[in-house]
Amino acid sequence: MKAAREILARFGGSKTIQRPFVHYRTIGDEEMAAVRDVMESGILSAFVGAWHEDFEGGPRVRDLEHAAREWFGVRHAITVNSWTSGLIASVGAVGIEPGDEVIVPPWTMSATATAILHWNAIPVFADIEPETFCLDPDSVRSNLSPYTRAILSVDIFGQSADMDALQAIADDHSLELICDAAQAPGARVGSRFAGTLGDVGGYSLNYHKHIHTGEGGIVVTDDDDIADRVMLIRNHAEAVIGPKGQRELHNLLGYNFRLGELEGAIGIEQLSKLEARVASRQRAAARLSRGLSGLEGLTTPVVRDACTHVYYVYPLILDVAGLGVCRTDIVEALKAEGVPGLMAGYQNLHLLPMYQRKIAYGRGGFPWTSEICRRDVSYAPGICPVAERLHHEMFFGILLCSYEFLDEDVDLVIEAFHKVWGNLDALVPR
Ligand SMILES: *Cc1c(COP(=O)(O)O)cnc(C)c1O
Repeated sequence: MKAAREILARFGGSKTIQRPFVHYRTIGDEEMAAVRDVMESGILSAFVGAWHEDFEGGPRVRDLEHAAREWFGVRHAITVNSWTSGLIASVGAVGIEPGDEVIVPPWTMSATATAILHWNAIPVFADIEPETFCLDPDSVRSNLSPYTRAILSVDIFGQSADMDALQAIADDHSLELICDAAQAPGARVGSRFAGTLGDVGGYSLNYHKHIHTGEGGIVVTDDDDIADRVMLIRNHAEAVIGPKGQRELHNLLGYNFRLGELEGAIGIEQLSKLEARVASRQRAAARLSRGLSGLEGLTTPVVRDACTHVYYVYPLILDVAGLGVCRTDIVEALKAEGVPGLMAGYQNLHLLPMYQRKIAYGRGGFPWTSEICRRDVSYAPGICPVAERLHHEMFFGILLCSYEFLDEDVDLVIEAFHKVWGNLDALVPR
């Protein structure tokens, strides 16, 4: 800790990190060649909405689905043009109806909850666990109502929620369990993968995630009926009469959620890189955790037993009361030292204007003011105290998926943290 008494960059000292880090990049020659092949074929999408041999899409899309089935060890992998589309299709496919309540954590991307509203169902926000930031099963239990129909759990930052506990609640109350593993492809839960537990789940293939096709997503399920309905919703749902006979029509409002052949071809190459990409995030995180261990008042990531974390974000918790410094001062000091990808706080969806004002569709407060909403669901500040306190005061993180974070980069980040911690008394007291 030779740097300990140097002047912080924030107060005019020299920056610990003087060079930019290399941006995270997964696209290489393999994707270039795969795209060229598709371009030469002239077939950029082969989907047909009516019942037809191409109802399930073209060769690249099907090859990606085949590869994803093998990779994740599931019966069905269904590509979609975004995971937002995948969430909408999944919530519909499990049979959520207008006025049904779906329990969801506040720490997630907006699409997790809007996918519920999309079917005129009601999101109910339950609190998160203080160390994993995933749905807290106890809070889920206390948010159950006679109208609860599903739990939509989120594997936030790259680690699975406590799916055994959530599945037990789902079994006790005949609920569907949906898993948003957008940030956690490749994370393990024992011998299985995050996203494959529960009734249906999936991953994002958006540019910012571990692997990507620009935009895209994959829905995974072992349930034949759910898979059938996701495929129908993805592709206009006109083909309700086919070799499988006539389907039950409820929730078969169909869309065009189809992935193109270019993205399919890129996705096949990307999937083959997933294991190595995840390993490089895990290597960076392990090095960080070793280097940061022992810094007073700082909690490095906690990983559940028998699970792995894929570190879309490297999450940290600050004991602000114990340190007597506020988070903003620490994060600003780290930023000034040149640490990239810092995030101070996350977000609490229930505090967004749409929920605070309870207006989703139109101006009349639909669906909350309609008779389909059978009780007064609260989004008041304070309903998720753990999530709110962490967001406002104690949580910060490093977006590990934004830069390559080579060993020498990680060492510089560690040096910056030690410099800031060696000068805590110079930061504004709380
Ligand atoms: C990225 C993300 C989504 C949305 O995925 P898109 O493919 O961008 O539509 C949903 N949930 C979570 C937790 C995400 O991180």
